Amino acid sequence: MTHDRHSYAEPALVRTTHLDLELDLDFSAKVLIGAATHTLAWSGPGDRLVLDTRDLTVLSVEGSTADGWEPLEHNLGLPDDELGSALAIRTAGHEQVRVSYRTAPTATGLQWLEPEMTAGGVLPFMFSQSQTIHARSWVPVQDTPSVRFSYAAHVTAPPELMVLMSADNGTQSRRTGSYDVVMPEPIPSYLLAIAAGDLVFEPIGERSGVWAEPEMAKRAAAEFSDTEEMMRVTEALFGPYRWGRYDVLVLPPSFPYGGMENPRMTFATPTVVIGDKSLVSVIAHELAHSWSGNLVTQDSWDDIWLNEGFTSYVENRIVEAVYGTELAVMETAIKQHSTVVKLDPLSPAELAVELPGLNHGSEYHGTTSLGPLKGCWFLSWLEERFGREVFDPFLRGYFDRFAFRSINSEDFVAHLQEHLLTPRPGVVSAEEIAAWLDEPGIPQFAVRAESDRFEVVDRLRHSWLSTGELPAGGKTWTTQEWLRFLDAAPDVLDAEQLQQLDREFGLTGTANGEIARRWYSIVAASAYTPAYDELATFLTRVGRMKLVLPVYRALSRTEAGREFAARVFESARPGYHPITTAAVQKILAAAS
Ligand SMILES: [Zn+2]
Repeated sequence: MTHDRHSYAEPALVRTTHLDLELDLDFSAKVLIGAATHTLAWSGPGDRLVLDTRDLTVLSVEGSTADGWEPLEHNLGLPDDELGSALAIRTAGHEQVRVSYRTAPTATGLQWLEPEMTAGGVLPFMFSQSQTIHARSWVPVQDTPSVRFSYAAHVTAPPELMVLMSADNGTQSRRTGSYDVVMPEPIPSYLLAIAAGDLVFEPIGERSGVWAEPEMAKRAAAEFSDTEEMMRVTEALFGPYRWGRYDVLVLPPSFPYGGMENPRMTFATPTVVIGDKSLVSVIAHELAHSWSGNLVTQDSWDDIWLNEGFTSYVENRIVEAVYGTELAVMETAIKQHSTVVKLDPLSPAELAVELPGLNHGSEYHGTTSLGPLKGCWFLSWLEERFGREVFDPFLRGYFDRFAFRSINSEDFVAHLQEHLLTPRPGVVSAEEIAAWLDEPGIPQFAVRAESDRFEVVDRLRHSWLSTGELPAGGKTWTTQEWLRFLDAAPDVLDAEQLQQLDREFGLTGTANGEIARRWYSIVAASAYTPAYDELATFLTRVGRMKLVLPVYRALSRTEAGREFAARVFESARPGYHPITTAAVQKILAAAS
């Protein structure tokens, strides 16, 4: 087992096997008061337990005895900016250790929203985002994906609010102010999740449904109505869904991600609920995590490609099975294009850092890491070379073998060798495999997805740029065709071109977040001020990092843009999640 450099925990000596949580949600103080009882499996001498924490106030630490609880000596280490503080507890092989604590209002893994920041505007809202290492800001825990535990929680909250966790929540939205949930399957800490707000349930199918604010629930259930079919096709390809129900919780627009694959309860951004299902691959993605990531987990964040790379691949297979090959190919081409655009300007030395061989780990930045894209590309390449009749059973066998375990790249490569490369010699060469696993960048021989519809879009863009003739048929383009048109357009256009596009296609003010982030990035880089009011509205309304960070980056390219960005950020900031706030601050600081 490799040591996880993102955690103070010592899983070689002791592991949490089950966690009992008592949580009270205090909205006025924006804190959570909790007790976390760890059931432990010892393999070392039993003299100490080290937990990860960040900005927690530890109230007491106790160990279980034959007739109750005894206080335990403990020491909370000095805080490290990235890792937080180690909580070192002196133990004597205690079967259970209980930590009572309270969170800080600034906990990096929690966001507390005033009623104005919700759709309903009457009740407050709170939610967690534990990935990657933020669980420690609301639960003292061995915060490493190499440790898995089941959990049960008793949560109290103001009685008008519904509380949900990444657990079996049932489908009853009766509000009592007191909730009990159970997560019977063992999960890593980054999948601990909680949310509370004015939430109602809307069923989709037998095993699936939507939780959302009343204003959003029916629309979201309609947008995600293919969820049940997505589950069926994934099971047919890669084996059973092993988590009971699959529900989607639609969060307020400040949620920093597209989705978070919290088991049994995906957290999703409302920015994909636009009425035409064109962005529901986010749901395919989060569902895919029920196999890659949640079921078979990377044992440290350095091997994130085992999680996100596999998920991106499975997502694409779901999209193909439910919506057809044409859409799946367009989505792959969009992802590959974005990878290539990021790689092109890099020197060989930079490339070696940004995108090393898959076996060599990469720092995970949440939205910008290239490792997962390379991992997905690698799997698509294997599929193409071996054929689906061979590759699909191989992948299913991998999920079955490592179900509910945490593994590293070497484990996968050994499995690949044993179950694919050795039994079928001559299909791929050792040099080709080494190019993916050990060399930086994307191999020359990697096959690029090609979409006929994108070729048409490319041709029309080209002729618009040279003759000024607007693309015919643009008004009936799919979302993906628009993304292609904007992705391969020059970063900077002149005001006349922008005005012409906008007049014809009404891009400014679009409700489609993926189109918006591309359009406003060009608007910002081109300093096209007529669209700045709507751009500012977008940055203030939405807190999803993938959508807002590129626009901040584009604004930061000029002095005037930077000043404008700083002003917008000041007013948008109260609605942003701490993770988004930190990311925007980094962009603005780097630019100044
Ligand atoms: Zn993901």
